[in-house]
Amino acid sequence: MIVEQIWTANSYRNFNYLIACPQTGEALAIDPLDHEKCLAAAKAKGWTITQILNTHEHRDHTGGNDQVVAATGAKVLAHVNAKDKIPGMDRGLRAGDVIKVGKTVELECLDTPGHTMAHICLRAHGDHPALFCGDTLFNAGAGNCHNGGHPNELYNTFASQLAKLPEATLIYPGHDYIARNLEFTLDREPDNAKAKAMLPAMAKQDPAHPLVTTLKLETEINTFFRLTSPSVIARLRAAFSDLPDHPDPKTVFLKLRELRNKW
Ligand SMILES: [Zn+2]
Ligand SMILES: [Zn+2]
Repeated sequence: MIVEQIWTANSYRNFNYLIACPQTGEALAIDPLDHEKCLAAAKAKGWTITQILNTHEHRDHTGGNDQVVAATGAKVLAHVNAKDKIPGMDRGLRAGDVIKVGKTVELECLDTPGHTMAHICLRAHGDHPALFCGDTLFNAGAGNCHNGGHPNELYNTFASQLAKLPEATLIYPGHDYIARNLEFTLDREPDNAKAKAMLPAMAKQDPAHPLVTTLKLETEINTFFRLTSPSVIARLRAAFSDLPDHPDPKTVFLKLRELRNKW
């Protein structure tokens, strides 16, 4: 499996992806908003885009579909619940479905509600596990729930699916928000030495050559995975006086999500 991470340099800071089979050159485009860059990257590599995967229905993820389909004839794949929201969808995806790319690539569909209720993350198994996580999980952060999502569902997705993936899983999110998210982590957990050490380099990072984190690193720097950290809880109790001494992880997650909305 070859992964090409494409920085759009737009104001939403989107990442697009091409995933290619090294044997056949067939490629899957994930959220190819910047259709020109995606088509140019495929051409430069000698790849043929045969499928498009929209992680969810938001326009900053689907807005390049028409142009990529017009140029390549690619099929459009998305969560089955997105069929009334994404024009021209060819295949509705459910949990456990497999997307094949060429002869060598197989990606498992995870049904990951929360950011929206029609959100798919793609999981690559094998020696180099990876997760293409759209707007569900960001580097050092979590998706918001403002436009068709639910924080309860987002917590359940984090706890029951994402947190259980192998530690070595490479994380490929839909946007570059790492610097701002690290700042939020440090606001919530000022003694997080790892986040503190990373922030200066990440603030200067060129998103065209981004750090690719692992799930293990996320558990260290992403406050939405640090729900039992004593300093996260202590800081949260200062903000919410009604919080018990030992709040359950779901309560911590929901309060963090609430604070991040206004932060
Ligand atoms: Zn979105
Ligand atoms: Zn987005």
